[in-house]
Amino acid sequence: MYLKSIEVQGFKSFANKILFDFHKGITGIVGPNGSGKSNVADAVRWVLGEQSAKQLRGAKMEDVIFAGTQARKPVGFAYVAITLDNSDHALPVDYDEVTVSRRVYRSGESEYQINGNGCRLKDITELFYDTGIGKEGYSIIGQGQIDKILSGKPEERRELFDEAAGIVKFKRRKAAAVKKLENERNNLVGVNDILS
Ligand code: ATP
Repeated sequence: MYLKSIEVQGFKSFANKILFDFHKGITGIVGPNGSGKSNVADAVRWVLGEQSAKQLRGAKMEDVIFAGTQARKPVGFAYVAITLDNSDHALPVDYDEVTVSRRVYRSGESEYQINGNGCRLKDITELFYDTGIGKEGYSIIGQGQIDKILSGKPEERRELFDEAAGIVKFKRRKAAAVKKLENERNNLVGVNDILS
């Protein structure tokens, strides 16, 4: 699996629609300070479901929408789509190519899609479990984050190893099952009360 392309429109400094095409191997993005290099990484983090404006270096989520310049009016929505080559089926879906997209309007209305079909954020999160991709995955290491990993709490570091070991989805499923069991136990107490 590899990242084939990123399409960006109205996201941060990218007012116009832009398509970044990547090929196998390493791609470097270079440019002067403030030209938008980190915004490309932010776009990937955002489309994977980032909910924290702070992680995207903004104060509120609306800050991801192109805010205009002296020469150009603001736009009404931000859109990002990433396309991954999935011919090795590293992602657990039948498609050889997977496109994940997110759009948000100034009203706050937002939509996610996988291969053109509307979906929930949860579907995107689950699609990328244990791949290292995802808003909490280790595939996006931002400026200063290496330091955070090295000086972080053991539990936080453990999360990275769990993701690399591919056991996150089982841990999440276990947590959900334990919660359900707990609810059922409470229901049983209620039933026993009624019976007695
Ligand atoms: P550096 O090399 O200093 O790390 P960089 O190339 O990574 O810089 P970014 O931090 O990605 O640059 O981009 C910052 C630029 O993006 C700034 O010029 C900022 O004005 C612009 N920008 C961020 N959000 C918006 C927005 N919502 N609308 C318009 N421009 C924006």
